[in-house]
Amino acid sequence: MSSPELIQLTPDLCDIFARYWSLCMPPHRKGDIALPFLHLQSEGFWHLIPQPGKEEILCRTKEPGSLSNLKNLILGASLDKELAVLATDPSSRDDLRFALIRTYFSPSIQTKLLEQSLINNEALKYSEDLLTLKRAASPRGEEGLNQFSRDQGFRRAVVTAYDHRCALCGIRMQTSQGHTAVDAAHIIPWSETHNDDPRNGLALCKLCHWAFDEGLMTVSGKYQVVTSPQISTRPNFPAHL
Ligand SMILES: [Zn+2]
Repeated sequence: MSSPELIQLTPDLCDIFARYWSLCMPPHRKGDIALPFLHLQSEGFWHLIPQPGKEEILCRTKEPGSLSNLKNLILGASLDKELAVLATDPSSRDDLRFALIRTYFSPSIQTKLLEQSLINNEALKYSEDLLTLKRAASPRGEEGLNQFSRDQGFRRAVVTAYDHRCALCGIRMQTSQGHTAVDAAHIIPWSETHNDDPRNGLALCKLCHWAFDEGLMTVSGKYQVVTSPQISTRPNFPAHL
């Protein structure tokens, strides 16, 4: 490796952080990836890369404020060169992950975190296969895959393909912690076809997902959004729908 790779605050990284957080912390404790992303710099192996012209402000920053605020200050972070090499190699990366989990978490949580790490790896590979249509020739190519990995992989593929925008109403909404408003839904139910091809998927916001499942909204064969007359029947108030 010529230079340590830049680690960016991408939606994928925020999503993975939130998944691990939910396994370790009680539901009422909201996670914020901006905190460890900033404060890890005090550990010596984690180096923040400032946005051009933001070097001095970053030096004076003691708290990230919010994820968007931190993104305005930094391009990302890099690991020490030797550590980056270890983190990139699949075998030593597994060893590192295992050592961290064994060192910092109780035995009951260790098992959950290790299971989630396997799901993350499988889901990432599956979503990349879906996005490059490697699975298209084999609609049942997901067989043998853990259901959680399949669900997470399909979700990532569809949400990435739609760039976090709802296919029906068009909104894109992400929180300052990087949480997205959209889910991934199958057009023809998975139970009927086992088809996770992203062309059989729609990214839908929570309201449109519910309306789609209830039969209040759908998409025609000509890719037009079709709404049911029920949607504006009194006392309904469909607003932007
Ligand atoms: Zn929507």
